[in-house]
Amino acid sequence: MADVDVAVVGAGFAGIYAVHAFRSAGLTVRAFEAGSGIGGTWFWNCYPGARCDVESKDYSYSFSPELEQEWSWSERYPAQPEVLRYLNHVADRFGLWPFIQLNTRVTGATWDSARSEWVVTTDDGAQRTARFCVLAVGCLSAYQVPSLPGLESFAGPWYHTSRWPRAGMDLTGQRVGLIGTGSTGIQVAPEIAGVASQLYVFQRTANFSVPNRNRAIDPEWERAFKANYRSYRKQAQESFLGVPLTGTGRPALAEPAEQIQRNLMERWQAGGGMPFLGAYTDVLVDRAANDIVAEFMRDRIREAVDDPQLAELLSPRAFPVGAKRLCQSDDYFAMFNQPNVTLVDIRTAPIDSVYPGGLRTSAASYELDALVFATGFDALTGSLTRIDVRGTGGVALAEKWAAGPRTYLGVATAGFPNMFMVTGPGSPSVLSNMVVSIEQHVEWIRDCVGYLGSYGFSIVEAKPSAEDAWMAHVTEVAHSTVFPLADSWYIGANIPGKPRVFMPYLGGVGPYRSRCDEVAAAGYEGFVLSV
Ligand SMILES: Cc1cc2nc3c(=O)[nH]c(=O)nc-3n(C[C@H](O)[C@H](O)[C@H](O)COP(=O)(O)OP(=O)(O)OC[C@H]3O[C@@H](n4cnc5c(N)ncnc54)[C@H](O)[C@@H]3O)c2cc1C
Repeated sequence: MADVDVAVVGAGFAGIYAVHAFRSAGLTVRAFEAGSGIGGTWFWNCYPGARCDVESKDYSYSFSPELEQEWSWSERYPAQPEVLRYLNHVADRFGLWPFIQLNTRVTGATWDSARSEWVVTTDDGAQRTARFCVLAVGCLSAYQVPSLPGLESFAGPWYHTSRWPRAGMDLTGQRVGLIGTGSTGIQVAPEIAGVASQLYVFQRTANFSVPNRNRAIDPEWERAFKANYRSYRKQAQESFLGVPLTGTGRPALAEPAEQIQRNLMERWQAGGGMPFLGAYTDVLVDRAANDIVAEFMRDRIREAVDDPQLAELLSPRAFPVGAKRLCQSDDYFAMFNQPNVTLVDIRTAPIDSVYPGGLRTSAASYELDALVFATGFDALTGSLTRIDVRGTGGVALAEKWAAGPRTYLGVATAGFPNMFMVTGPGSPSVLSNMVVSIEQHVEWIRDCVGYLGSYGFSIVEAKPSAEDAWMAHVTEVAHSTVFPLADSWYIGANIPGKPRVFMPYLGGVGPYRSRCDEVAAAGYEGFVLSV
């Protein structure tokens, strides 16, 4: 008999809820977490300025009406320490600690066909067996440092933002180099600029960013909002992005130009990326509509940045707005007016090497005391393929996915029985409010395992034909949008040698949920159930 019913790998939002949901369904569970604490993203990314860009009322669990009533968020967009406190509170409140093993990295998971169980190997050399293996390892958890010649010779400290020292890093009066201008780079830059003597922002690709308009939560507003939380959560689950939004419901291309400007400005003033990009129905599917919004955003950059040449350098032109993760910041562009901030264009003069005292581009040298990498992640697949996962016949997951990830519904992959992924590639995942997507997957997996038990089955495995059809659908939907036009991490473009496959599912959270429910209602259509 297996040691536990379910082995869960990872203890972020997904793993924490998985432990609770499976235990509540009467299953035995053990979760393994590489970190010394729970929280995943919100444990590791403790860099200054780390903040959620989905509102706290949305970016929180919905599974417990009591929890959502008890917990009060302090801000519209909570900072990392508050989200981490929330997740620790959840573990306390639901008594989850005994089932989570910290400081334990899963190095391998092998399907034993003879015994119909997974053998999970951890970095302490131990092995545990489980009937089911749930990989809750995170879409954005395998961090990526570019291989720069000479980095090992750098005399000062250097950190990736996802491995920021927990005790903090004092950059006061230092000359700091920041590499990476995605969501994280844009969050951390103004914080560093506030204390450093000099900040050099090394920019390869200018990025779009909308204001947060972050603010404290008003207790009166909170009381009124919480009175309708249940129906709000239902709307979120049925929505496109996992957040109920009110767009105009009209295409921009059918709207008079002044009206578009008025509408966009209203949303710009209100803050937040999702309501802004969701203003019109055609922005993410029609390049001409997208260009209108992009130009509106470039106008805002020109307003914020005093030097017109600098504003132009900061203005994204290489990709449609929204096709790369939209950044959010109240201070990023204006920060470049500070005398201690310099933008270095590494598109035209690429980084050449690091030397003990700084960094050299093909055009100049920059003396640095510290170096910060906000260079992102091997997204969606990295944390899965870094584990030696082996399915039927010893086939490695990394091998099966050599030309890009292949899944059925983003939750399972053929050849890997009784293995599930939470927010795997081929599901809405990073193109949604992830907490909504995580809950949906965990509940679907829990119900699938329950179904097997109720009907006398013990093994579930995706059919290759169902997987093929799903992948074709994921690709077709992606190519009906502007998303594939960007060199984004959605498509693996940030990792040298990674196959270019559009990985998340763009069909929307609500429709995706319905499809998953239909599959379940049809006795897990597209899966083989066996004993
Ligand atoms: C800086 C940042 C900001 C973000 N902001 C938002 C936001 O505003 N809204 C939004 O929807 N999403 C956001 N995200 C995405 C975020 O990752 C998800 O919302 C969510 O936190 C994912 O939870 P998870 O449990 O699936 O994965 P994670 O939180 O990544 O947790 C996975 C855990 O698995 C562990 N793990 C991985 N491999 C192993 C292994 N082999 N053995 C043991 N443990 C392992 C990791 O240590 C990690 O703790 C953000 C991501 C980042 C990086």
